[in-house]
Amino acid sequence: MLQKNWKYLNIENQIVINKISNIYSSDKKFIKKEGNLDEGRIEFKSVQISDDVWGADSDITIEWKKLEASHFHLGKIVNESIQNYALINVTTSKIEKSLWHLSHEMTIWYGNRQQMNRRRYFVSKVIHATFFCELTQRLFHIHANCLANAFDYYKEAILNFINSIQCHAN
Ligand SMILES: [Zn+2]
Repeated sequence: MLQKNWKYLNIENQIVINKISNIYSSDKKFIKKEGNLDEGRIEFKSVQISDDVWGADSDITIEWKKLEASHFHLGKIVNESIQNYALINVTTSKIEKSLWHLSHEMTIWYGNRQQMNRRRYFVSKVIHATFFCELTQRLFHIHANCLANAFDYYKEAILNFINSIQCHAN
């Protein structure tokens, strides 16, 4: 499929994603949304389902939570996320620190996971981005899963998604 981008607008929660590849569904019934301006999450799923047990080849979840800036330490929060995902067998393979998202410091880590679903064995890849928006005082986590054998196809779309998030009004 030729990749084109669509734009996701969630004005009430001040979240805009400017570049979502059409390999992720724009159909509202596949977009799970909950929460409010201070705390919430939105989940997107890929159109392609190559295995019914696994479900959508890939999904991306964006989560945000209001936090006081004085309580904020990016390195610590990233370490906590790595430890939490380790509990469900996600192994971190690469950490990219000191990236910038708009004016916010961002860390992205990559990982992989082996799991059993209904007695079947699946290998998946993970991309996880974390940044704090000082302007709206919200912590953002973006977590993407993808079947390992489809990762090359999804990776760029996941990174474009992350890099095109508008977390505060201009
Ligand atoms: Zn921001």
